[in-house]
Amino acid sequence: MKNEYDVVIVGGGPAGCMAATLVAEAGYSTLLVEREQMPRFHVGESLMPECYWPLKRMGMIERLEASKFVRKKSVQFVTGNGKESAPFYFQEHDPRPSSVTWQVERADFDQMLFARAREAGADCHDSTRVLDLVLDANQRATGVKLRTAEGETRQVGAQVVMDGSGQQSLIANKLGLREDIPSLKKAAIWTYYKNARRDEGDNAGATIIMHTVEKDSWFWFIPLSNDITSIGCVGDSDYMLKSGVDQETRFNQELERCPGLINRLDSAERVEKIHVAREYSYWTRQHSGDGWVLIGDAFGFIDPLYSSGVYFALVMGERAADAVVSALAAGDTSAARLGSWCAGFKEGAQLIRNLVDAFYTKEFSFGGFIKDNPQFKGNLTDLLIGRIFYDGAGNIFDEMKPAVARARAEVAMQ
Ligand SMILES: Cc1cc2nc3c(=O)[nH]c(=O)nc-3n(C[C@H](O)[C@H](O)[C@H](O)COP(=O)(O)OP(=O)(O)OC[C@H]3O[C@@H](n4cnc5c(N)ncnc54)[C@H](O)[C@@H]3O)c2cc1C
Repeated sequence: MKNEYDVVIVGGGPAGCMAATLVAEAGYSTLLVEREQMPRFHVGESLMPECYWPLKRMGMIERLEASKFVRKKSVQFVTGNGKESAPFYFQEHDPRPSSVTWQVERADFDQMLFARAREAGADCHDSTRVLDLVLDANQRATGVKLRTAEGETRQVGAQVVMDGSGQQSLIANKLGLREDIPSLKKAAIWTYYKNARRDEGDNAGATIIMHTVEKDSWFWFIPLSNDITSIGCVGDSDYMLKSGVDQETRFNQELERCPGLINRLDSAERVEKIHVAREYSYWTRQHSGDGWVLIGDAFGFIDPLYSSGVYFALVMGERAADAVVSALAAGDTSAARLGSWCAGFKEGAQLIRNLVDAFYTKEFSFGGFIKDNPQFKGNLTDLLIGRIFYDGAGNIFDEMKPAVARARAEVAMQ
């Protein structure tokens, strides 16, 4: 490891690896540091189809096509009484290869990205923890303090520090920039099953989102390789973790209340311990400063519902890398320049946020919405694919608001 780089990137997840690959390929000296030993376990296995474009730019598509990862061609929603929506088939809406994506074991996927960043010329170090951001008297970032794999503490200088440290959000925590999202104070309890029943044909690799009877929680069903399925339950944090039962009991109780899921587990066995994630949704007040920029979960995370996390991380890694490269070329690494991409990104992310809010409106269902508004199936599929960065992507919400209001009024009248 050298004492000085053009760019130091914290975190070897999708955001950090994407950024490191592009900055290194542009010819700037790049250090990528990951605190865990790679490959490392991580939640978040289901990709959105639009991951295709940043992954293509990164040179990953052929490697993914040759991988063991399950192909994901659709998503499906199941109501609390077990009624299944028709699957939203991505290729029916858009027949390009980019409409098929992957359900990935994150340890393997992130390891592939980390290796790609190294191949692109980034100096990649795992088991290396960034302890602090170094700021000068004008609050400009000038590097990081870190602890190497050998246990040595040292300082490394950089013109730009990119924070891809995920939920640890190193810089936002240091500078007090994190903002909770009170309506999304959720927790997830998840594990893995072997031999859970999958559909046949094109829906076999689908992510299935299933509500429990009273809609107090919902489950994800994500088919992985070797007949393993990731199954997780999400609900309000207090309900999931503070209602006097332990996490495993809460998980099992919710399972019993999820008719859409329970019959898929007839011949299945649990093969992993129970994992918990809590209060993972937050946003940041400021996304860049002089000499630093936030990417991926370190910038903000909305909700696991539509599997947008890795896609957002890749898009932010890509857009921020482009901004950093042009800032370095111009000799201007100011906050405005490093964060020039943020407003456009937030506009797209807001659409996913709107879709999350619709889902958590108890009276609203996607099946019902599409039944009443079949003309919007294409727009909704676009959002589920992740196609959120084009003019008019949010048209659907003008129609969705009255639909949500109507659903509420009908419930009030009963
Ligand atoms: C319950 C749950 C379910 C989810 N399901 C999905 C899903 O199905 N699909 C999806 O796309 N997304 C999902 N997500 C979101 C997804 O996990 C994240 O959005 C995604 O991993 C973000 O990528 P990242 O690169 O920003 O951060 P990460 O992937 O978290 O990578 C950050 C890395 O930084 C490292 N790091 C942290 N601090 C330091 C430090 N000080 N020094 C050095 N390294 C450090 C960490 O070890 C980590 O490896 C889910 C999230 C939750 C909570």
